[in-house]
Amino acid sequence: MHLTILKSTIRPNRGRNQKGRARRAYQTGEGLQGLGPVKIPAGHPPTAFKPATPPLILAIMSQTHPCQDERDFVRWLQARCRKTARAGETQPQSALMPGTGCRVEIPIGDDMGGLAIGGDQILVTADMLLDGIHFDLAEHSPAAIGRKAAACSLSDCAAMAVCPRGAIVSLALPDRFSVDDAKAIMEGVIDMCGRFDCVLMGGDTTRWKHPLVVDVAMVACPYPGIGPVRRDGAQAGDRILTTGRLGGSIRGHHLSFTPRVHEAHRIAAALGENLHAMMDISDGLAIDLDRMLEASGKGAILDRDAVLAVASDAANEISRNDEDLIRHVLSDGEDYELLLTAKLTDEEAESLGLIAVGTIDEGEGMRLRDSQGHETKIEPVGWQHF
Ligand SMILES: [Mg+2]
Repeated sequence: MHLTILKSTIRPNRGRNQKGRARRAYQTGEGLQGLGPVKIPAGHPPTAFKPATPPLILAIMSQTHPCQDERDFVRWLQARCRKTARAGETQPQSALMPGTGCRVEIPIGDDMGGLAIGGDQILVTADMLLDGIHFDLAEHSPAAIGRKAAACSLSDCAAMAVCPRGAIVSLALPDRFSVDDAKAIMEGVIDMCGRFDCVLMGGDTTRWKHPLVVDVAMVACPYPGIGPVRRDGAQAGDRILTTGRLGGSIRGHHLSFTPRVHEAHRIAAALGENLHAMMDISDGLAIDLDRMLEASGKGAILDRDAVLAVASDAANEISRNDEDLIRHVLSDGEDYELLLTAKLTDEEAESLGLIAVGTIDEGEGMRLRDSQGHETKIEPVGWQHF
């Protein structure tokens, strides 16, 4: 979907009028005149399905931001953090902490960052959820929002097959929010964390005139006998698998999913060194698989029939035809299933509850192959954070 907007409206932080104008344009489908097309992200966090919600605003902001999208920003950060004090010199991040007893084991770009401190390894992630983007306070209870906020960070722990152990929760509360509402959010956080033996360690609370923000940072340690599973190890010939069906999470899954922490441990223990790469699907199969392929320096073929078969019931309900269904499977956000590549048999996949959707190869990008062998290019569509 493309809209045209006025150049004069593109001023970050000039607020409401432009946002209101953009919303009206989005609602009416008219667009505004003057500037080239603005691409609306095909994927969605849940509330983006409603016409008046922020994807368009994000699209407008992205026009003025120096980074084209989140991936550019991450690439910049990766390069920036490899720079040493001496101008122009770059090194691996792991080499940058001499004399500290610490080493960066998993640098920027994976589901969690990893630090080796002495002989121990700790992993950390953070996930920030915003009212109007990731949940809707008008529809969702504070406890459900707290559970989801914790589950998103737990899902990052699942992505690396590590053990979540501590959560640090920061809340930006709207002025009208009561202490009881804040307690209800934290009850949700504590409930979800408790299911995975993860304790609340602290956080920060503040109040402002704007919508609710919930940020959950999480500390984890490796699962005994299993190193953290990274996303950059996919090998040609690996099968591409998921732990569940995809698409249509807007229908409710996004708020009620169970992070695949236990499944991740089971899969990693069963497959051992044959498990080559893993991450969670938070922004959409296509964009998340593309991130894995970029990290691994590989390409992928997805099987069209398998992509149709992996569609959730909700995705089937909201799709008009097969093409629409494929679009939902590839680009809908917030599935929170695991995406992994491994060498394994059909029997192993079945016993672990894994669904195969394609194969890693040395080709360029992602391609969808039909039963006649025809291939079409898949764009990395999904939710763009910027
Ligand atoms: Mg993730």
